[in-house]
Amino acid sequence: MVDTARQKALIEAVAQAVIAHAGELTALDQAIGDGDHGINMKRGFEAVLADVDAHAAKPLPEALKAIGMALVMKVGGASGPLYGTLAMTLGKELPAEPSRDDLVRALGAAIEAVKARGKSDIGQKTMLDVLVPVRDALADGGDVAGAAAKAAEATVPMKAVRGRASFLGDRSIGHMDPGARSSALIVAAVAEALGEA
Ligand code: ADP
Ligand code: MG
Repeated sequence: MVDTARQKALIEAVAQAVIAHAGELTALDQAIGDGDHGINMKRGFEAVLADVDAHAAKPLPEALKAIGMALVMKVGGASGPLYGTLAMTLGKELPAEPSRDDLVRALGAAIEAVKARGKSDIGQKTMLDVLVPVRDALADGGDVAGAAAKAAEATVPMKAVRGRASFLGDRSIGHMDPGARSSALIVAAVAEALGEA
């Protein structure tokens, strides 16, 4: 059951995790991008936090749609529209009180929407390289946060094929993808908040 208090705690946990790691995300993006991923994500999640009571009062699907809109408008860069698409698609696909199966199916649909929007796929050193293994771990009933952390780590030896990091070609190898790291942070915060409830 996702009541208002729990939904608020969940939104706050995710936003605070992203904001607390903004420096790390920016450092990762300085290595293989333009150094704005932390700033972008912090701006977006500060906007989400500013409206947390309104988001928490909505049924989960409506809250996810509103948060997705805020991310599209406030994060910017390549990641804003992609995280916005992810959240809005989850909102469209999830019922008000989702089961694990609902989550697996909705995350699958949201991943497909991100792929379509980004013209991207797994193995290209992006957030998808975390989101897809997370969906699989969720489907298998495994350790979702652990899978996310491992998947983010697995982007280090990858060569970027999409996004700004792809301009570096082979020089993108040896660094963690910033969007993979932010996805892992978000997933860990969700898993922890839901686990504690
Ligand atoms: P920008 O690249 O415009 O500066 P950000 O720095 O905020 O935007 O976000 C970069 C992250 O966005 C990358 O690390 C990657 O994970 C993700 N990303 C970029 N392009 C794509 C894409 N086409 N598909 C999926 N993810 C992408
Ligand atoms: Mg950037």
